[in-house]
Amino acid sequence: MTDSTTPTWERVRLDHPEDGVARITLTRAEAANAQDYSMLAQLNEAFDVAAQDENSRVIVLAAEGKHFSSGHDTTALNPDMNDFPTIGTQCHFDAEGAEGYMAREAEMYVGLCWRWRNIPKPTIAQVQGKVIAGGLMLVWPMDMIVCSQDATFSDPVVAFGVNGHEYFTHPFEVGARLAKDMLFTGRSISAEEALRAGMVSRVVPRDDLEAETLALAAHIAKRPMFGLTLAKQSVNNSLDAMGMYTAMQSAFGLHHVGHNHNLRLYDSLINPAGLQVIRDEA
Ligand code: ZN
Repeated sequence: MTDSTTPTWERVRLDHPEDGVARITLTRAEAANAQDYSMLAQLNEAFDVAAQDENSRVIVLAAEGKHFSSGHDTTALNPDMNDFPTIGTQCHFDAEGAEGYMAREAEMYVGLCWRWRNIPKPTIAQVQGKVIAGGLMLVWPMDMIVCSQDATFSDPVVAFGVNGHEYFTHPFEVGARLAKDMLFTGRSISAEEALRAGMVSRVVPRDDLEAETLALAAHIAKRPMFGLTLAKQSVNNSLDAMGMYTAMQSAFGLHHVGHNHNLRLYDSLINPAGLQVIRDEA
């Protein structure tokens, strides 16, 4: 249900489909849920509302339409940062050289993803269709991932002359061998391959995706909030002890070596030839 006190946004919707469950849905299906900064800022606001809501114990992130998300909206990479609230402590967004763009990505990509990853409530991604590059940056920060059999996952942006998308946790998500395979070849992995790699929690028929996800969320929501929070933090702390945060920040620095290499050679953040490579292989 969505009552009159639930805030509304242009690109995301918040509702409460089960007791104790908040659901945030991406509503840009006409653009395969491509993420511009507006969507990311609105998503962050919705996560904040759900996190602060005492009645929401589990948060589901879903998406309307055929595909969960096609990634970052590459037609809108340099919006005016004054249009968005600054969530973290980044600054100098309009600085020249590497400084400004690195700050933008640190704020809007890595910063937001890491923030959502650490929400002290269980989060579940409900995934169908394609999840491409930046799409993984919404899926991977969630605690559990339920996907339909048609779901596929890829990060083809090595074709753009960078190392991968900005939330670089690939080896932690799929293991080092498959991470290199995905990155080098740009190929999609299927739901079943993602399940074998431990990247997703459940694979279900497309028609059952919503019901199965909500049933899982409702099941989890019966447990004490603080126990869930402590369990989540313990697993996350274990990943951090394995170096997840440091490795991701290291990769983020290399990501910006790639962007700046491209800027010097092509006057573009990405190698322009990459788009055709990805299209030819799609
Ligand atoms: Zn980037």
